[in-house]
Amino acid sequence: MLVLRFLNVVAPVYFLCISLVTFALQLFLFIPSMFQDPSATPLFSSALLHGALFLFLSANALGNYILVIRNTPEDLSKEDLNLGTAAREAEGVARDGPEGGSGSPRLALPSTHFCRLCARLTQRHDHHCFFTGNCIGSRNMRNFIMFCLYTSLACLDSLVAGVSYISAVLSTSFANPLAFLTLLPHSISQFFSGALLSSEMFVILMLYLWLGIGLACAGFCCHQMLLILRGQTRHQVRKGMAARAQPWKKNLEEVFGKRWLLGLLIPMLNVGSGCHGQKEK
Ligand SMILES: [Zn+2]
Repeated sequence: MLVLRFLNVVAPVYFLCISLVTFALQLFLFIPSMFQDPSATPLFSSALLHGALFLFLSANALGNYILVIRNTPEDLSKEDLNLGTAAREAEGVARDGPEGGSGSPRLALPSTHFCRLCARLTQRHDHHCFFTGNCIGSRNMRNFIMFCLYTSLACLDSLVAGVSYISAVLSTSFANPLAFLTLLPHSISQFFSGALLSSEMFVILMLYLWLGIGLACAGFCCHQMLLILRGQTRHQVRKGMAARAQPWKKNLEEVFGKRWLLGLLIPMLNVGSGCHGQKEK
């Protein structure tokens, strides 16, 4: 438990450090180097377009990150639990049945789970995210998916900008796909022989970090979308619970709401999702 609590503090700090470093490299190194391109036109130059794209991606990633933390899952009161128990008993469903059971006799609402790190019950609990230090449930699932998507895109954007910067500074060609694989060992040997600056070595290390984080977030986002389409949460999969029998469109609408396109472009707290509506009535 102590290790998990430690991880709950270290992971958000790690995320914020990587974000700050990425911001600094983009704003003070990559984008200014693009302005030095003599062939570019001043208006709609690649530097301006790239800067606008990076700001859009990072604003969405950080905006949704804050919303995941702010939009904490419901702290279910005893009344809610009693209501849930009465409803389930009326339906003749066993307390620890395939849909609602989560190991504790206290839990009566479907798919609720008590997280010991957050010290609260979450409805439609998915998992505890260490990078946000928060539980992911019905209230913040949409913001969590958007956070993963935009973090992945911001990392891949930084990777492309970093590769173009390194190829210009070191006159390295990335036309050969193997060039990226041999870049790290080649750079390390050059760095220790004094032929490579520490700032350039740092950018090269960041390229691999962005690739790793970008791919991990994209994979996580795809897996999460698959679970949403099936109407299942990660917690249910872990416990071997059955998925809800409802159409995939309804599952999607429950998470992304009716105004899903607006929520896709701007970090928003509520886009009229079915779950939110039910709780707020
Ligand atoms: Zn939690």
